[in-house]
Amino acid sequence: MKAVVKSHRGQGVEIMEVEIPKFKKNQVLVKVEGASICGSDLHMYHGMNAYEWVNVPVVLGHEFAGRVVEVGNQEHEHLVKQRVLINPYVPCGECASCQKGNTNLCDHGKGAMDKVPAKSLQYGFRQDGGMAEYAAIYYKNILPIPEELPIEVAAMLEAIGIGVRALERASVLPGGTAVVIGPGPIGLSLVASLSNYGLKKLIVTGLAADKERLELAKELGATDIVIADKVNEVEAISALTNSQGVDHVFETSGFHQSMVSGVRMCSKGGELLLVGISAKETTLPSNEIVRGEVTVKGVYGVTEKTLNRAISMASSGKYPYRKLVSHTFSIEKALEGFETGINKQGVKVILIP
Ligand SMILES: [Zn+2]
Ligand SMILES: [Zn+2]
Repeated sequence: MKAVVKSHRGQGVEIMEVEIPKFKKNQVLVKVEGASICGSDLHMYHGMNAYEWVNVPVVLGHEFAGRVVEVGNQEHEHLVKQRVLINPYVPCGECASCQKGNTNLCDHGKGAMDKVPAKSLQYGFRQDGGMAEYAAIYYKNILPIPEELPIEVAAMLEAIGIGVRALERASVLPGGTAVVIGPGPIGLSLVASLSNYGLKKLIVTGLAADKERLELAKELGATDIVIADKVNEVEAISALTNSQGVDHVFETSGFHQSMVSGVRMCSKGGELLLVGISAKETTLPSNEIVRGEVTVKGVYGVTEKTLNRAISMASSGKYPYRKLVSHTFSIEKALEGFETGINKQGVKVILIP
């Protein structure tokens, strides 16, 4: 079968002929129907800086969906033909984080103070993932999805899930106000999710170079757009909110200065949710956080519960996730898909085996 393989630690990925995976007793064989290219796949394409923990060679793809075609264990016979989303996290179930239900923070007993990428992040990183015709998956890592869900949306449920996780960490109420910093795939999926929350203001900030993505943000439900390299973004938020600031700021760009601006965009008592990972550690304005009683929260990964929530949101048809899909390619043309992502054309690129 054809697969997208990260075969070495340098630049690039390869489209290779590999064997259909042999699955073990507690695994199922999934025929992949769609896999989406994530920002972290693009990072790995560029080399392994900050991804030293990934096993190479590895079949990439941690955002994917498909259909169970074979099972290793008789008890799982009923799963055959089931359409499924793959949860790329395989938590240990025993560490303190898992015990609290925070499987996205699983450390496999390594110590909760060591905030490295979750040890549980497996498929597409530490084990072969879904940018291939077939994938062997532990039976607990498949989540049923309805037949009606378009495959392009099903394939990006994990990415939608990151935004849903941000909403689980926030306390968004109807009539409230929010800013989403950064119109990348995660930021825009968050805008799509927030579009049905009855917000008074849903403001998206981005750069002039993001023009098309900012236009899409409006289509997805943003009430206002701020072009951060043309105006002072904090002043712009102030002008749009009667000098009140907003209840929730979701920082998805990972740009260090945006995290500082994010504190300043908050209303008194507001909250800043940090979703993007910055290349540079940042000093936040601590006195403003104290005097404004601003809450700063990290958002990282997804749990099974988050993914199930994303599945039901996507299945409800009330959120415009389909609009996020800009390109589809076959596995043979996956390199074009990676180039598309690297050149920031469109939003979500889906590979259809
Ligand atoms: Zn991802
Ligand atoms: Zn654990």
